[in-house]
Amino acid sequence: MTDYEFQGWLGEDEKSVQGHMKWGKFEPKKWEEDDVDIEISHCGICGSDLHQLSSGWGPTPYPCVVGHEIIGRAVKVGKNVKHVKVGDRVGVGAQARSCMQSSCAECSSGHESHCGVALVNTYGSVYPNGEGKSYGGYADYNRTNGHFVLPIPKALSSAEAAPMLCGGITVFSPLKQNGCGPGKTVGIVGVGGLGHFGVLFAKALGADRVVGISRKGDKRDDVLKLGADEYIATGEDKGWEKKHKRTLDLIVCTVSSEKMPLTHYLGLLKVKGTFIQVGAPDGGNLPPINAFTLIGNGIKVGGSAIGSPAEIAEMLQLAADKKVHPWIQERSLKDANQAIVDLADGKARYRYVLVNEKNAQRHANL
Ligand code: NAP
Ligand code: ZN
Repeated sequence: MTDYEFQGWLGEDEKSVQGHMKWGKFEPKKWEEDDVDIEISHCGICGSDLHQLSSGWGPTPYPCVVGHEIIGRAVKVGKNVKHVKVGDRVGVGAQARSCMQSSCAECSSGHESHCGVALVNTYGSVYPNGEGKSYGGYADYNRTNGHFVLPIPKALSSAEAAPMLCGGITVFSPLKQNGCGPGKTVGIVGVGGLGHFGVLFAKALGADRVVGISRKGDKRDDVLKLGADEYIATGEDKGWEKKHKRTLDLIVCTVSSEKMPLTHYLGLLKVKGTFIQVGAPDGGNLPPINAFTLIGNGIKVGGSAIGSPAEIAEMLQLAADKKVHPWIQERSLKDANQAIVDLADGKARYRYVLVNEKNAQRHANL
């Protein structure tokens, strides 16, 4: 029993993504002594929230509360959780649990986000042993396994730290793992929520040159201010694919469209360059890739899923040390329906963060 109630914005069917979520109660997963309950003050809005509300990635087990960029205060901490105590400011990203067995190659080697045995997402997952379903952060409270609950460095504000927990880590992890750093020229395709973090973190990791690549020309000034050395507006800069051919060592692509000009993006890689896809289209399909595009350019194409708790902690520390400031727009949790519609319309510059005013106020007074 708890003296607080779990309430949030419930998506009840595919139409909820059009701004039809309804506020109501939900039953969190069954309490275990490995869990932490969080009183939520902030939650970022990720493109994934839209895919999940609309069942774009397959049937969502409605009702579903989305939101996996959660910051708040720990209000209940299970006996087995040693790194968090009641009252701590903590965060949760897109993952709520994995099998965490020593026999699991992924979990035992710091690749929890690729666990093939028992991966549970922060929302929209059904726990494997009858513990219930996972519910996300457009809500008053969240319950997540402590391994995936991280203390937040003091230097980061809650509103800025929230979107790092999914948007930030999803680009930080592949940048780091694919050699982003001094001597490298890095392209970030799709400058939205994830992509703007891509520019910020590629710079923070010390890349020589960072190129933002997105469709809209009116993002140019912003992307240069974010720290990019160059910006390509694919919708407006005629002949961009020829002008910038074979100029990049590494590309991280956040675009989630089956119709994106993938062959042109791949042509921007230098020989032996690497392209990492993180954008996740409805249905999962990408445009076809011609074998000669790969063979002739001698390039590699891969993918990446969020990041491990250890990598998230490393990213948060880097953000604190290098004073990485995401461009966020705070929206009231009360306006969550309008905010998801605005994100779908491409209006975010560059990440909306929902503020649960009631809880944020309470934490400010602590
Ligand atoms: P977002 O804020 O909407 O940004 C996506 C950007 O892509 C847009 O700003 C848009 O900018 C650009 N874009 C280019 N071509 C596009 C097209 N044909 N349709 C739509 N956008 C296009 O979304 P986000 O939160 O960054 O998420 C991006 C994707 O990453 C989503 O699919 C999300 O589910 C996925 N994701 C994956 C992981 C993972 O672990 N792999 C984790 C989190 C999110 P322009 O209009 O300027 O082109
Ligand atoms: Zn996300």
